[in-house]
Amino acid sequence: MTSLAPLPLSTKVTVLRGLGPARAAALQEAGIDTLRDLLWSLPYRYVDRGSLRPLGSLELRGLEPADQGIVTVLGTLRDLRQSTTRVQRMALTEALLEDGTGTLRLIWFNQPYLARALKVGDRLLAFGTLAVGRHGLELRGPQFEVMGRGEDAAWVRRFLPLYRKLGPLPGRVRQKLVQEALARVHVADEWLPLELSRDLPDGPTALRLLHDPPDDSDPALLERGESPAHQRLAAEELFAFSLGVALRRAGRLKRRGLVVPTSPELREQLRSYLPFHLTGAQRRAFKDIVDDLTSGRVMNRLLQGDVGSGKTLVALLSLAMVAETGGQGALLAPTEVLARQHAASFRRYLGDRAESLQLLLGGMRAAEKRAALARIASGEARYVVGTHALFQEAVAFHNLQLVVVDEQHRFGVKQREALKEKGGDPHWLVMSATPIPRSLALAVFGDLDQSVLDELPPGRQPITTKLHKPEFAERAWEQVRRELAEGRQAFVVSPSIDPSDEGKVQLRDIQAMEALLRGIFPEVPLEVVHGRLKPDEMGARMGRFVSGEAKILLATTVIEVGVDVPNATVMVVDHAERFGLSQLHQLRGRVGRGAHRSHFLMISGSETERLQTLVETQDGFRIAQRDLELRGPGEFFGVRQAGLPQFQVADLVRDRRLLARCREAAEKALARGLSEAQAQWLKREQARLRLADVS
Ligand code: ADP
Ligand code: MG
Repeated sequence: MTSLAPLPLSTKVTVLRGLGPARAAALQEAGIDTLRDLLWSLPYRYVDRGSLRPLGSLELRGLEPADQGIVTVLGTLRDLRQSTTRVQRMALTEALLEDGTGTLRLIWFNQPYLARALKVGDRLLAFGTLAVGRHGLELRGPQFEVMGRGEDAAWVRRFLPLYRKLGPLPGRVRQKLVQEALARVHVADEWLPLELSRDLPDGPTALRLLHDPPDDSDPALLERGESPAHQRLAAEELFAFSLGVALRRAGRLKRRGLVVPTSPELREQLRSYLPFHLTGAQRRAFKDIVDDLTSGRVMNRLLQGDVGSGKTLVALLSLAMVAETGGQGALLAPTEVLARQHAASFRRYLGDRAESLQLLLGGMRAAEKRAALARIASGEARYVVGTHALFQEAVAFHNLQLVVVDEQHRFGVKQREALKEKGGDPHWLVMSATPIPRSLALAVFGDLDQSVLDELPPGRQPITTKLHKPEFAERAWEQVRRELAEGRQAFVVSPSIDPSDEGKVQLRDIQAMEALLRGIFPEVPLEVVHGRLKPDEMGARMGRFVSGEAKILLATTVIEVGVDVPNATVMVVDHAERFGLSQLHQLRGRVGRGAHRSHFLMISGSETERLQTLVETQDGFRIAQRDLELRGPGEFFGVRQAGLPQFQVADLVRDRRLLARCREAAEKALARGLSEAQAQWLKREQARLRLADVS
């Protein structure tokens, strides 16, 4: 046997012995290309021999509540049979496990291949939920590993790492590959800065601790991914990510930005247009923006705030700053309804100056659109309000200095690149619809500076929030009836139902809801809006609700963003369990906009504990954090998750504090200048973490 030279982490996995083409392909399929990828794919579970139970000792009562009935057992398969259940005609596989102290029945449903995969005499390590069946205790649907002969040697160690099977590659084989990789790999110099690495094991040690945990490891920390070794790997990912973001930011700050010729007098004058005083938070945010606009650098700022905190107003002031000093500003709204609404409210605030406001929509008639484009090109239009679709068209601006992007998590990046290609590099202000927890904002908008509106305008009435079971829905309709009698208006929200859901669950769709509402409120004018309407029709129907002609608006979540009807004082959400918490909070923000007390009523027969969060708090940041914890970052952003960085070990919820530290460390490292090891590491990580996508 030849002696093996140490391998760098970037070596292809194919150097490992015992890895044929089929298995290499399976690894490739799972994105495991190099030793680094292999070593960073951690075990999905650690079996703790400390908690291995002799079969004779099993009883449900003896289990800690924390175990939730989960046990790990090791024994020899004594009996194996396959049958079909009488009632639902499911394949039933039954086995009997014996370990010298007793026996235990194992059962699996609908996995007929098990009868072929297992054989009497196999030694099986199984873990699953202990339950009481017709024949006494049994383990239902346990996961298991077949132990090879002589493999009890593995039991010298307390923890057994388990790896997921990848196609034709069994978890046990993966473990062997990992062990070989660990033995042969050579890890380059330390590249984490001292302030991060100080309390953590070094890279190679961390990998060993995770793939072959020593007996004194803390099983709870291992299981939760919170051991120092996990933290080490997470820090590597988060630091590389933060470096990428910081570099991008540094690049932006080097670009020369248009200096908007503002003055304190102008700021005062702008504020005097408003019928009320700015909140302290609005004043601070506006100052941040003015500082950016006059700094000589290009602004890229995220304006965050709870629903109703007055972001739009700050946007208007910022646009005015530019428009009143000879430039042009554009506001991009996600829908035509919102664009029209923004234009209308801007006109109210601007008074005579509204002359220079121009709306530009995809659905405009040709002549109207030509006129609009001409006004934008000549510079006569100083305030341009439209949807982002417009930005894809050939709109020529006279002197575009500021773009405000409303209510979207990520869009704007491409448009911005397009603008830059055309030679323009305006200031950029992004407003998020719902509060985004800090860790997620750092991850997704890492390159943006942030201003947070953490204060609501005075005099807001709290919104009474209730959760009703479907059988008590009448209480919600009673409230609607009372509000209508007072001359108020009502929103009713139905979930949009995916055709693939039909039949599976009993859901009331929007047509059924319309029929119900027409039955309960026969004389009341009602409009129905949903995403499949043409923009014109949508605008007309919304218009009748905004004007007060229609009293009830039945909608899918198209009303989620921004719609402002102060006379609407009650919202009923059907099947509230179908919505995310942040989304519900966003919906709730559609009421409580006027002087009257408002009501937010959810109808749901399930997930009451989760929905209760909304009853308990109206703090959007707290709700967002809870939503993030419950659903994870991808779901939190819904379909817009495409821009999230892909981490193998780091978890944006669990490791949020670490991310904040990594971000600081990255800024410092950049200021000092990157070491050779850091620069190389960063280059390798760039593609994997999708750093290029970060806005
Ligand atoms: P957001 O966009 O953050 O949800 P908006 O800008 O739509 O909030 O403001 C919500 C409502 O509060 C609007 O009707 C707006 O006119 C009003 N508003 C905004 N700022 C103030 C303020 N400083 N004082 C009183 N009312 C305000
Ligand atoms: Mg708004």
